[in-house]
Amino acid sequence: MIEYNQIENFLAGKTTSGPMPSRVDIDLTNVCNQDCFYCNSAEFREKFLVSGPTPFYYRLIDQLYAWKKTNPNHTGGINEVVFTGGGEPTVHKDYHKIVEYCIDKNFKVQIITNGSKLQKLVDYLPQEKIKNINWIGVDIDDYENKKVFEVTDQMQTMIENFSVKYNVKYNLNLARSTPRTYTKCHQMFLYPIFASNGDALVCCEGRGQKQFSIGNWMKTDVRKLWYNEKHMEVYNNTDVSLCPPCTPNKWNNAIQSLLQKS
Ligand code: SF4
Ligand code: SF4
Repeated sequence: MIEYNQIENFLAGKTTSGPMPSRVDIDLTNVCNQDCFYCNSAEFREKFLVSGPTPFYYRLIDQLYAWKKTNPNHTGGINEVVFTGGGEPTVHKDYHKIVEYCIDKNFKVQIITNGSKLQKLVDYLPQEKIKNINWIGVDIDDYENKKVFEVTDQMQTMIENFSVKYNVKYNLNLARSTPRTYTKCHQMFLYPIFASNGDALVCCEGRGQKQFSIGNWMKTDVRKLWYNEKHMEVYNNTDVSLCPPCTPNKWNNAIQSLLQKS
């Protein structure tokens, strides 16, 4: 559940305290065992081929878990922790332990992966902990024709039919392509990305771009970075007309719609 209302209240000046992040992306590594033609972090990986040190991730998860200790006025809660991007998360030598640490803190854990090293997690985690992984997203793309897998109407119907037949829920995320109605990226107050080079970013498409970094999460308590001067500066100075399609497009449209009504 995304706190659209809470961020709208803050941006419209109805409250003095905004929400804490709702979704958090954690990049464990920039290293990848594949070389996808569409990879949005290929350039970033070339510049910073690093895996984050394991103790930093434990500390980060501890800070997320005890967010209100430092910021008691922040509203909302952290709903999702997603291990993703930069590189392939399962390539990190301790990824299975870090995922477990997060599950043990009762976060809803999600993993976006190319699927190649998932067996290590399956072998390591007890069954009852595996059940606490909310979802695992595996990329499927059209390598033969070098294009991103296109979800046609026919494909959508087929997926729906399989879902019913095998009683497996599915989620087709088509929200990236809906028209952009906002002129500012409001979701920057809900969704940080902790990159494996230390950048705390507020744009999921901005890995390696310092203009989207609000500080270094490996050197600073992340709870002190939220709503800092740089955070407000990035929000005010980002020109979204230059942005590529992005995951939080739906959130931004929803927040914009509330702001227009208020
Ligand atoms: S698997 Fe992911 S990180 Fe690796 S090259 Fe492909 S898109 Fe990039
Ligand atoms: S691409 Fe633009 S709209 Fe999307 S998250 Fe980044 S700054 Fe926001």
